[in-house]
Amino acid sequence: MEKQDFDIETFIMDAVLAGRLHPGARLGEAPLAKLFGTSRTKVREALVKLQTRGIVTVSPRRGWFVAQPSAEEARDAFHARKIVETGLLLSAPGVPETALAALRTHLAAEQRSLESDEIGTRTCLLGDFHIILANLIGNGLVSDIIRDLTARTTLISMLYQPKDKAEQSSHDHEEILAALEDGDLTAAAALMSAHIDHVENGLNLSATPDPMSGLREAFSTFTASAPRPDSPPGIPSPLDKETSGP
Ligand SMILES: [Zn+2]
Repeated sequence: MEKQDFDIETFIMDAVLAGRLHPGARLGEAPLAKLFGTSRTKVREALVKLQTRGIVTVSPRRGWFVAQPSAEEARDAFHARKIVETGLLLSAPGVPETALAALRTHLAAEQRSLESDEIGTRTCLLGDFHIILANLIGNGLVSDIIRDLTARTTLISMLYQPKDKAEQSSHDHEEILAALEDGDLTAAAALMSAHIDHVENGLNLSATPDPMSGLREAFSTFTASAPRPDSPPGIPSPLDKETSGP
């Protein structure tokens, strides 16, 4: 894999995980090619890979967009996360002290982000708890699967989360970490399962995602006064909605 392909894929994935790219946001090949100093072919190759990971979709006439998961896809994603994340905990031989220390440090950052009310950082950190845990106790393939599923559920939270549930999520993470510190992986798995249920149940899956969001994104460049420093040209501005993340 060439460095440029990796960078474009990772850039878009990280922006989704951080809540900086909305579901339905348009991903123009030409602006991305300009941004990354590469060809449209390379951009398209990265987007095709992200499509197979369920993060972007393509329409033959309209081009590339960040995925807008349906209610059914949302349920499937949370179900898959429960299977993979509880399975990971139940099959782990144990959690080394270095891993516990890393999770403790992460949880402290997560709790600081709740106080500071930085939505993007908080959304990113809440998802990161799961990704860090997977990196610490899972193999590379399991980590990749959990990262992709977390990105999907981050998009889902942006579409269906009616109000902020970040404090609940962080509290759940604290309980999971306490069980890991006790060396009780069965309890940690049960808490993880309940936590993913809490996040899913906090969503309003009967809500209809905004059918105008694509158009709003298309016209956002006319209404936005200036792009944010972390928003490259052609990529819609960050979230204006509160999300708690996974
Ligand atoms: Zn969580």
